[in-house]
This record gives sequence, structure tokens and C-alpha cells, in this order.
Amino acid sequence: MRHVSRAVSGWGNYPVAQCDVYRPETRADLAEIVARAPQSSLIARGLGRSYGDAALNAGHAVIQSDRLDRLLSFDPEGGVLACEAAVSLAEILDVFLPRGFFFPVTPGTKFITVGGAIAADVHGKNHHRSGSMAASLLDFQLLTARGDVLTCSREENADLFWATLGGMGLTGVILEARLQLRPVDTAAMVVDQEKARDLDAVLERCAESDDDYDYSVSWIDCLARGRSLGRSILLRANHAALEDLPASARAEPYAPQRRLQLSVPFTLPSFTLNPVSVRAFNTGIYHVHRSGRTVRDCDGYFYPLDRVHHWNRIYGRRGMLQYQCALPHESARQGLVEVLEELSSTRRASFLAVLKSFGAASEGVLSFPRPGFTLALDLPYTGPDALAALARLDRIVARHGGNVYLAKDACLDPQLFRDMYPGLERFREIKDKVDPEHRFSSSQARRLGLAEAP
Ligand SMILES: Cc1cc2nc3c(=O)[nH]c(=O)nc-3n(C[C@H](O)[C@H](O)[C@H](O)COP(=O)(O)OP(=O)(O)OC[C@H]3O[C@@H](n4cnc5c(N)ncnc54)[C@H](O)[C@@H]3O)c2cc1C
Repeated sequence: MRHVSRAVSGWGNYPVAQCDVYRPETRADLAEIVARAPQSSLIARGLGRSYGDAALNAGHAVIQSDRLDRLLSFDPEGGVLACEAAVSLAEILDVFLPRGFFFPVTPGTKFITVGGAIAADVHGKNHHRSGSMAASLLDFQLLTARGDVLTCSREENADLFWATLGGMGLTGVILEARLQLRPVDTAAMVVDQEKARDLDAVLERCAESDDDYDYSVSWIDCLARGRSLGRSILLRANHAALEDLPASARAEPYAPQRRLQLSVPFTLPSFTLNPVSVRAFNTGIYHVHRSGRTVRDCDGYFYPLDRVHHWNRIYGRRGMLQYQCALPHESARQGLVEVLEELSSTRRASFLAVLKSFGAASEGVLSFPRPGFTLALDLPYTGPDALAALARLDRIVARHGGNVYLAKDACLDPQLFRDMYPGLERFREIKDKVDPEHRFSSSQARRLGLAEAP
């Protein structure tokens, strides 16, 4: 059981922790690590796209699962895919989009694993219509702390199924899963782009017509103040039908973007990020964009950031903090106003901030999405002042009955976490049954009181 001790971080590059990293080649290796690794706690890791400390285990063991990544079977009639947990969304799209199938719920990057998608119960731009990862997950196999391999589904080990969805790796290691893929006629999207002059306008447009679109996201200028507070560009889309493509492209409806001559929504800046440059960038984006309809490839619509590998490095060595909160419908407007005012008054510059609507919640015990709106933004890590700024946002969000997303979190306070996640006690009960010694734990889990310190 070889391992290396090295510095590990999430996508935000903050925090960084020294961990003992195992990289099993086979399931037998993995089982041996879980049974015999001398470290008192373990956590699985996929592609490390969670931003904070969810896939870190300071002073303990991290199981880098990327070798356990086989596609197992596919039913082309029903669109059901069985695969190992370290298969990435990018691989699934590479193989199955040319056959007419898309991943039903996709986050803003395709460089995540199926295991990571289940553990965070990820959501996409279609949550208002299609829900979270839970909606397309049929079942999975879970390796538990005792070495058992349990099938978990809505019918079998249902408690464990719902605790693992959104459970941030704390119930065991997901080995493989069966997913329902979604049939699509083309690899293109019909995107309607529209400007909203302020927060009320964007919320109103979402309420009025998000239901007309499978996907909806708004880029929000989080530095605009006064009457322009919350001004946004709405980017809403449906999968393109064959007749939406130019005649020249119809013979190859799943052809990649180059052939369709499509474009990304906006280009990334080459200048250093600071409050002045980010303000200029945000203002420029708002003014440059025009309303109208375009046909784009799905990579351009869903994954604009994936085109720039290691884009997180633009934040420099200190890294960044991602922040994503959800606010219920009844308090969303006021909560968003307070969050945006807090950011703009302290000149905290988010290079990219996005607003999305959330539909019905899944039954995931610790799942993040709840009906309402969600705002995601990133801030450079500038030291304790940045953490204090997020703590102020956390308090605003908690006061308005909202919650923050664990896959992005690096610093939430445990008391606020309890207030935001009423499923915590139930989660603990389920975890205590399957993992009484808290063998599965992470830096985040200990910080939040989700697992005991070993
Ligand atoms: C650019 C960008 C955009 C994003 N956009 C969105 C978005 O729109 N919506 C959204 O929901 N998320 C979004 N995310 C967050 C991302 O989808 C989640 O953090 C996801 O969990 C990352 O998957 P991963 O494979 O990289 O897992 P990691 O980051 O390696 O791990 C994340 C969690 O999953 C657990 N885990 C991983 N593999 C397993 C396994 N086999 N068994 C058990 N537990 C496991 C880990 O223990 C950890 O708790 C975004 C991230 C980035 C970088």
C-alpha cells in the first residue's frame, strides 16, 4: 500500500493541506486501503474540482480514485449507462454525444467524475426543470468502512442512497453507478441572450419565462451599484433540433464546435485580476453583449471556462474562494440585494458571478439545491480579510433562510452550517450506522462537525 505525502488543494488552491495520497489501481487495492491503511481517516477524491477542503484530509489519507474509471455497459435503447465512479463527464460526452446522448445534469465544468457528481449531488443550469444529479441516478455500489459493497438505490439501502447523494464522500467510496442519459438530436444549443438592467428585472424575467427553457443562467455584474445593482445578461437555452442547424451542418448533427463555427460567450481577460481590472471587465461584458438568438455548440454554452485549462491559476499562488449560496423564493430578492451590496461596498471583485433558479429539492439529506435562486461568485484569497468577508455573506444568507454549497465551501462556521442544513442530525445517524468509527472524514467534515476528529 504505497502512498505519497504531498500538498493537496481543491480547485480554488485554498486551503492547501499535507495529505497521504493513495492511488489504487484496482478495486482490490482500494478495498485493502480502506481495510488496512494505518491513517485513522480516509476520503475519496475525484478530479479535485470542488473548490475548498471537501476532498482534502489534512494529516490523513486521500484516495485518488482516477484509475477506477471503466465504462461498464450501455443500453442504447433506454440510454442507461453503467460506469465506474472515476469516469468523467468529459469522457461520457466524448463517447455518447456522437451517439445522441447527453449528460442530463451538468455543472459548469465537464472535468468532474461521476463519483464527485453524486457526492455533491451536483446541479446544472436546468435545475429549475430537471433537478439535481439525483434525478438521473438509478443506483450505485458503495464500499463502506467495514469493507462491505452495498447496492444503494431508492428501493435498496435507501437511507444510504440519500445520505451519499450530497454526502461529500463521508459514507464510503462510490465504486460504480448506473445513470440515465438524455437523448438529444444534435450537439448544439439554441441560446437566447437578453440583458436585464437590474436585479428586479433579472428576477422578473426568470420568473416569467425560465420554464420556456431547459437551461437558464445569468451572468451578473456583481460590482454594479445603485440603480444598476444586479444588472445581468441572461443566457437561456434549449437543445437544438436538426432544423435549428444551418443546412450545411445537418448531415453531422453531433459534429464538434469547429464545424459549426460557434463562439464562447465572452473571452477571458489576460490582465491581472484586481478590483479595478475586474470592474472594467464586468462593465465591458455588460455593454458589449447584445440581446438575440444564436446557435452554439454545447461546450461553448455549458463549459466556457473549460477552454482555458488551469484557469484557476489566474488568481495566483494564494488561490481563490468560490462562494455559492441558495436563497428561498420569499427572501431571495432581499438576500441578494444584501449580498451584492456587501460585495460592492467592500470592493470585493468577483471575476465571474452567476445567478440561477433552483426548482424542487431532491431528497438528498445534505443536498444543496432548494427552490429559489442561487448565486455563485469567486473572490481572490487575500488573507483573513477574505474569510471575514465570506463570514459576513454567510450570516446574511443564514438570516434569509438560505444555505451555502459544500462543494465550494472552505470556511463556513459549524454553527451556521447546522442552521443551514436541517438534515444534519439524520445524516449523522445514517453515517454512525455505516461508519461508527468515522473512518471516512475530510478536512471539511471535521471543520463542520460532520465527522468526529480521529
Ligand atoms: C469551473 C467549475 C464549475 C462548477 N460548476 C458547478 C455547477 O454548476 N454545479 C455544481 O453542482 N457544481 C459545480 N462545480 C463543483 C463540482 O461539480 C463539484 O465540486 C464536484 O463534486 C467535483 O467533482 P470531482 O470529481 O472533481 O470531485 P472532488 O472535487 O475530487 O471531490 C468532491 C467531493 O466528492 C467526493 N468524492 C469524489 N469521488 C468520490 C467517490 N468515488 N466516492 C465517494 N465520494 C467521492 C469527495 O470526497 C469530495 O467530498 C464546479 C466546479 C468548477 C471547477
